This record gives sequence, structure tokens and C-alpha cells, in this order.
Amino acid sequence: MGKNIFIILAGGQGKRFNNKLPKQYINIGKYNSIELIINEIVKNNKIDNIVIACTDKYSKKLKKIIKNYKKNNIIFVKSGKTRQDSSYLALKKIKSLNPKYVLIHDASRPNIKNESINKILKHLKKYDGSAPLIKNVDLIRKKINNKYIEEYSDTYSTQTPQGFKYKKIINAYKNNINKKFKDDISLMNNKHYIINFFEGEKDNIKITYKKDIKYLNYKTNKYGIGYDIHKFDFKSKKKLKLCGVKINYYPLIGHSDADVGYHALCDSIFGALGLGDIGMLFPNNESRWKNINSSYFLKFAKSKINEINAEIINIDINFICENPNISLYSNKMKENIAKILKINKKIINIKATTNEKISFIGKNEGIASESIISINF
Ligand code: ZN
Repeated sequence: MGKNIFIILAGGQGKRFNNKLPKQYINIGKYNSIELIINEIVKNNKIDNIVIACTDKYSKKLKKIIKNYKKNNIIFVKSGKTRQDSSYLALKKIKSLNPKYVLIHDASRPNIKNESINKILKHLKKYDGSAPLIKNVDLIRKKINNKYIEEYSDTYSTQTPQGFKYKKIINAYKNNINKKFKDDISLMNNKHYIINFFEGEKDNIKITYKKDIKYLNYKTNKYGIGYDIHKFDFKSKKKLKLCGVKINYYPLIGHSDADVGYHALCDSIFGALGLGDIGMLFPNNESRWKNINSSYFLKFAKSKINEINAEIINIDINFICENPNISLYSNKMKENIAKILKINKKIINIKATTNEKISFIGKNEGIASESIISINF
């Protein structure tokens, strides 16, 4: 039985992308495009080997990254000058593996799904090649002599992976050594071979411009919400503390220093990271958290963000109280948060509302706070 082999073409430098580091090596959330592809493929037991075609400069970097993938046999081949060269070099290299079907994929398409791979493998039982297409819904115009001419009404974008019977595609390459082709389908799309096209996934976009990374990053954003409430201690001579700012007003009652702002913020961070809540992490029946400065909890939350190399996108904190006047202290609060979380204070918003004298907050018995956060990882 021959093997099914998945080739990732990662030799591209990305001229349109205009960045020192090629686009396939830039992180989208926690992983770069190549890792995201591998993360998906290793879940597919129909794929026997992954072959990465890249330059020597980046194979070291990749080998370091992918040392965790033990299950799948990942092989490196040197990429060529062009996409076509890389494809052919990889195809020649895998001959000794006894390949049956081969799928060739661009390293800059991180959103590949196993559903598409399985479709291709199924099609290859019947056809020589199979590839996903997306019907263009926009009217396509071509620029000719500085005029935009309406060209075609029925056009399709070709995606990867493109799958082939190994014997057919290696022969096609051998027979067309000196000809140039834009992709592997172009090489095979003639009377000698039967190619099957199917509807691809819109999400399987190709990173081409920097804004594509921004779009893909947006898709990896996680959100968290936090809420907390504490009662005033009108008998205490201590001061109120909100987001680390000491305020000349009655303090709040709590097991720790009752910093309702930090507590809500911490809970939103723990929520976004999927770590439960502050009460689970720091139980209020444990004496070691008694009267503790709540900046400790926020520093702990920051360490959890660092552990997974996540990035805070923005924070919005809301206080609900009759007193004090939060706007007098919001700038200092932002500075405290920015310092602990090591972020720009411009991405922090702090606002407040009264409870219109309704219920216990309206009767000035305490302060509630809520926080929402967006974190990218
Ligand atoms: Zn609290």
C-alpha cells in the first residue's frame, strides 16, 4: 500500500508582504501559519508523512518548533527558486517513501481543514487530481492599458491543497521540465489528466498582505468577563482602594483588601484564559490571602498571560456606585493596571455609572465592578 503524503511549500519570500520575516513564519495568535497547518494535519490519520520544503535558513527554526510532533513523520526538503521547483524537488525526494497520493499545499494558508483533505483523498480514487475552487462573487475586471476592462463573469479562485496521484504528477513534471506553470493544477489541467474541482472553504485564505495577518489574528481573540461587589465599612478608619488607587472614602469589606476593580479585572482575565475564577484560584477561607494586596492577584494573572505568550487587545472596566466620583481617579487606575500588565494605558477604558439611588448600590452601601477583556492567543 502506498502512502499519502502532505507537502507544505514554505520556501516563499512573499514580495507583496513586504516584511523581513516571510509571512508563513509570523505568529497568528500562538502559532505561525506552518504550525497551524501541521496542528491540523497531525489529527488526520490518513496522512502518513508531512514534507516541508523550505530554505536552510528557516529549516533550523522550524525543526526547533516542530520537535514536539513525534507521532508524525515530518521530513524536510530544500526548497527551489520557484514554487514549481520546490514542488518538483519535494516530489522527487519522496519517491523512496512509496507515495500513492500526494497533496501539495501553500504554507501561507493556515486555515486548512481535514474535511478538504479527506475530500481530495476520496476524489483521488477516481481522478488524477483534485483541487478546491472558490467562485468569485465580485465582478472581475482586468487592467489593460490603464483601463479596467470587464473581463469574465464566471471566474473561480484556485486554492490549495491540490491533490494528485503520485505517479501521474511526477510524470507530468518529468515531461514538462522546461515549461513554467503557476501551480500544480496548471501543470496537470490538460487532456492527459482528469482533474476534479470542488467547492473550497472561504476561510482557507492565503496570507498575502499584512492586513491578512491582522484579520487572522482577530479570529484568535478570546474574551473574558468579570464581576465583583463589596460592601462599605462605614466604621473603619482605613481608606478605599480601587484598582490600586487609595481614595479618601470608606473602605470596602473583604477577605483580601477588597479591591473590587482588580477583582473584576482578574476574573475577566481568568475567564478569557479559561482558568476559572479568582475564588477558585485564591479561596477566601485560606488565611494566606487575608488582607492581601490585590495587585498580587493581578500579577498572577499577568504571569498566566505570559505563560502562553498571549497579548491583551483591550480592557473595559465599569464601576457601579454612588460614591466616590470615579472619573477623578480613573487615570491613576489605568496607570496602575498598565504598569502591572505591561500594556499601553490607551487600551484600557475605565468608566462608571450610578445606580440611580435604586437598591443597595443606589443606597450607597457598596461598589460593584465589571470588566471585559479581549486577549489574543
Ligand atoms: Zn472581591
